Amino acid sequence: MTDLTRIDGAELAGLLASGEVSSVEATQAHLDRIAAVDGEIHAFLHVNAGALDEARRIDERRAAGEQLHELAGAPVAIKDVLCTIGMPSTSGSRILEGWVPPYDATPVARLKAAGLVALGKTNMDEFAMGSSTEHSAYGPTRNPWDRERIPGGSGGGSAAAVAAFEAPFALGSDTGGSIRQPAAVTGSVGVKPTYGGVSRYGAIALASSLDQVGPVSRTVLDSALIHDVIGGHDPHDSTSLQREWPSFAAAAREGAAAGSLQGLKVGVIRELDSEGIAPDVHARFQEAVRLIEGAGGEVVEVSVPSIEYAVAAYYLILPAEASSNLARFDSVRFGLRVERPGQTVEDVMAASREAGFGAEVKRRIILGTYALSAGYYDAYYGSAQQVRTLIQRDFDAAFAQVDLLVSPAAPTTAFRFGEKVGDPLAMYANDITTIPANLAGIPGMALPMGLGDDGLPVGLQLLAPLFEDARLYRAGATIEALLAEQWGGILAHQAPQLTEVAR
Ligand code: GLN
Repeated sequence: MTDLTRIDGAELAGLLASGEVSSVEATQAHLDRIAAVDGEIHAFLHVNAGALDEARRIDERRAAGEQLHELAGAPVAIKDVLCTIGMPSTSGSRILEGWVPPYDATPVARLKAAGLVALGKTNMDEFAMGSSTEHSAYGPTRNPWDRERIPGGSGGGSAAAVAAFEAPFALGSDTGGSIRQPAAVTGSVGVKPTYGGVSRYGAIALASSLDQVGPVSRTVLDSALIHDVIGGHDPHDSTSLQREWPSFAAAAREGAAAGSLQGLKVGVIRELDSEGIAPDVHARFQEAVRLIEGAGGEVVEVSVPSIEYAVAAYYLILPAEASSNLARFDSVRFGLRVERPGQTVEDVMAASREAGFGAEVKRRIILGTYALSAGYYDAYYGSAQQVRTLIQRDFDAAFAQVDLLVSPAAPTTAFRFGEKVGDPLAMYANDITTIPANLAGIPGMALPMGLGDDGLPVGLQLLAPLFEDARLYRAGATIEALLAEQWGGILAHQAPQLTEVAR
């Protein structure tokens, strides 16, 4: 029988829909895979003890002849930043250790309503601050391609789970690249939707003006299928867009069938194709650009000059918003409480936050509080907001010339544990390729584009104008199909290294 963990989500969903495979079988196969490899990978912080019961209920409904969603019965992994009824939601932090929310985040609720089965909660940098999962309070996740290397971050757990066949689909959140960068370094696909395209209700807030929930998977179509389920207006999120979205799965299927990019004007972002990009990543990127041209895409170089200031602006705006969002962890209403008899409420709050937050979280709270303080507000936070406007304008100008922008999704392949964790600025600088899209609110996708000199995955980033997420799926699926043809063996699900993990 087919190994149900090795096939893509769409294929698995097809087997479930036709009744060839039950949800219990599909779920059990993935739970077995988690049991076999997650001791090594540590993609999961929590495995859902109720998963098989949920699967059984889907099987019963199907057997009763109920018309179910096309993904019903398929398993999915959920980043721990998302609130889940009945499962702890820690956001990778000690301050929320063991906290079980009383409600589901909207993206989770929508997956459940469609009949998907949550396998568990995936590891992440604490409060989604980081690019390696080394800032998780519960220990890092390992990259399935090389266990001495980081799986990216903050959503390294979701990307590693998908790359190691522990789940066909996962949810992530992307504030500055936390879906796209982990996808890039694990040979997976990840999408940050247009800001407001997916509800943030129940996503533990990092920086509210930047956060977006999105899919991670091994194929473009699988991400599109999940995006179709989780997206769309939600009255619980005031920044949720009220608009009709096209079917992203239909766009992906069209793109894969088209086999051509005829009529598509593609801009190479000059500022992301220069210094700071590793030579092997640059070489793969050049090959991808030639492939786009070969497929009929018209490629031009485009400048987004203010990208130069993106990292600096982001690392003022993000800490500012985070310092305000994280004020809710006051040890009074929920979460860790450290108290000794006779202490004042301030003492208890201070002791709880001191014990509950890790070093990176504290660093950003301090940075953000400083940037927002009287006398510095204009110089720091105010200037950063002005840069943000410039970046939005630069992207508008770029998209007046082209339909799609491309760049490497991450500057290097997966780096080694310890390489950047002691040097916050080096870790921040790593986000240069992904941060601009969050500042502009535009949608972005990372997809595999081959292997670096070290045999590790390299990611291609596609960026589209606001609301044009479907364009990413259409072009992404075309490029994915052409790349698979040209470089057979590049995708995560063909990685030889992964067989080894299974032993
Ligand atoms: N590396 C970025 C940061 O540390 C990404 C954050 C994110 O997207 N959640 O802020």
